[in-house]
Amino acid sequence: MDIPVTKRFIKQYIELFGKEIYSNYSEKQNNILVDSISTDKILLNYKLSIENCRECNLGNSRNNFVFGSGDPNADLLLVGEGPGENEDLIGEPFVGRAGKLLDKILRAIGYNRADKVFITNIVKCRPPDNRDPLPSEVGECSPYLIQQINLIKPKIIVALGKIAGKTLIKKDIMLKEMRNNTHEFNSIPLRVTYHPAALLRDPLLKKDVWEDFKYVRDFLSS
Ligand code: URA
Repeated sequence: MDIPVTKRFIKQYIELFGKEIYSNYSEKQNNILVDSISTDKILLNYKLSIENCRECNLGNSRNNFVFGSGDPNADLLLVGEGPGENEDLIGEPFVGRAGKLLDKILRAIGYNRADKVFITNIVKCRPPDNRDPLPSEVGECSPYLIQQINLIKPKIIVALGKIAGKTLIKKDIMLKEMRNNTHEFNSIPLRVTYHPAALLRDPLLKKDVWEDFKYVRDFLSS
């Protein structure tokens, strides 16, 4: 637009709408953008503040502190047990065979780990030889998960496997009793399903996991 055309446009605009400038980029959208930028930063700062943790012995044997990854503004928070060998080497959760299967499950419900999904674990450092984390290790690491949940504010949490399930529902019952039930964690709906590694061992469990993730998909789209 040259200057006279711009002037004419502004004159017409003022005649039609008055002197207030309107834009379809609303304050609400602006606030959402500012919020999402700040959650990114706050989560990153939080990671930097805890990644040298030595509160338990796992901190001495780890290669990497596996904070978790994904969308800081996720609707869906997936919580596994703890990093395995590959995760410890790379520093990202669920990067091995179980992780590839988890990616497939997410795709099947129209999600992916970079968008509206955040993945983390109950303990952030690998237990040696992939043993279960000790209750003391879970206890030391739990405040990190709680703070991640406070910052991300997911709409729903899905615990993957028995260790994550019993830690989050604070009850040691069989996994099949934890399923098909909406629990709560700090007022956020929580579902429990099988760990993807269990599906690799027993593909018959896939049917149940598919039901569980369909529930999550429907919950998030309602
Ligand atoms: N198993 C888990 O529970 N978490 C990971 O990050 C990888 C495998």
